[in-house]
Amino acid sequence: MTLLPANILEKLTAGSEQADRGTAWPIAAWEALRRAGALAWSIPREHGGAGLSAVELLSGLEDIASGCLTTAFALSQREAAIRHILKGPPPLRERYLPRLARGEIYMTVGLSQLTTSRQHQGPALRATLLPAGRVQLDGEIPWVTGADHATGIVVGATLPDATQLLLVLPTERVVDQIDPPLPLASLGGSRTSLVHCRQVIIEPTEILSGPAESILGKSGGGGLETSCLAIGLAAAAIGYLREEVAARPALDEMTSRFESTLQNLRLRLHELAGAADPDRTLSLRTDATWLVLRVTQAALMVAKGVGFVAPHPAQRWARQAQFFLVWSCPRPVADGVLAKLAGD
Ligand SMILES: Cc1cc2nc3c(=O)[nH]c(=O)nc-3n(C[C@H](O)[C@H](O)[C@H](O)COP(=O)(O)OP(=O)(O)OC[C@H]3O[C@@H](n4cnc5c(N)ncnc54)[C@H](O)[C@@H]3O)c2cc1C
Repeated sequence: MTLLPANILEKLTAGSEQADRGTAWPIAAWEALRRAGALAWSIPREHGGAGLSAVELLSGLEDIASGCLTTAFALSQREAAIRHILKGPPPLRERYLPRLARGEIYMTVGLSQLTTSRQHQGPALRATLLPAGRVQLDGEIPWVTGADHATGIVVGATLPDATQLLLVLPTERVVDQIDPPLPLASLGGSRTSLVHCRQVIIEPTEILSGPAESILGKSGGGGLETSCLAIGLAAAAIGYLREEVAARPALDEMTSRFESTLQNLRLRLHELAGAADPDRTLSLRTDATWLVLRVTQAALMVAKGVGFVAPHPAQRWARQAQFFLVWSCPRPVADGVLAKLAGD
């Protein structure tokens, strides 16, 4: 299934090294996605979108990741925001979804402080209930991709009784409190920043859900999109290996084995689309991480010294694969990958 026209994929691929190494937002790639209609894919028709199925969305996201992981990652954070807004009250859906579908605004998430970041400390972002249903936010949102490009951030905050709220933080209220983008090892163009909140007031109409315990579910993080991006990056590296086979037939057997693993993971991903199965979702995330680590190393080894020199894609894929060791990687996934790394 191919949703992305070949010329759009070529455009993403052409900009992928700069998007990874620089810190400029990948505007040209984003514009290409808008023109291809990709920014409307996940949004229901009643809100001006294309209303694609879950499997179609994953296929499209995989294609984008195979061309430019930085762009796919920024898109995946927008998609996470959209999923939360879709479950929120109708006025918030109407306020944001049509403009997101038209590509007029970008939105993102700052949720990891509830799941995979700073869990050994007290809540990073504290919420206090005020009169008339307002909420005050204090603390830090440690990781927000595209913060300085976003109109709003879907944020998770913790109340004094340890219950949690999801809300939309309009970025104009923290415009002077967004740190410069972090100097990342890869995916620099994602412009990921820490956002400070000092007595930031949220209106009752901006609350998406809660208060509730473990509002993002018990495991948190490690959803299907993270596996999908890993599969997309693995597909790019495997595509390169397959090209090399033409001149180096000895690589055929190894490449076929990687292709078969990739196909198996893709089937598992599509089977899980739309199904709520946390155990199988986390197990897929572990296996997708393991594949992308191995296949990008293999591509680098096959590309040899030339592959270690920018802008050869092999060096970029190998660096980018490490992202899956740290991004949205909940405890069961980390334990599984660490056990494999230790040789269990
Ligand atoms: C490039 C990038 C972009 C991201 N974008 C987003 C985004 O847009 N939205 C979002 O919600 N999230 C985002 N994340 C967050 C991501 O999903 C993870 O939550 C994050 O990578 C977890 O790393 P951390 O350093 O915050 O973890 P922490 O658990 O806070 O670890 C930090 C440090 O704390 C110490 N530590 C950890 N555990 C313990 C312990 N048990 N005891 C003692 N010390 C400990 C270690 O020294 C560790 O290095 C992003 C992450 C990255 C890397």
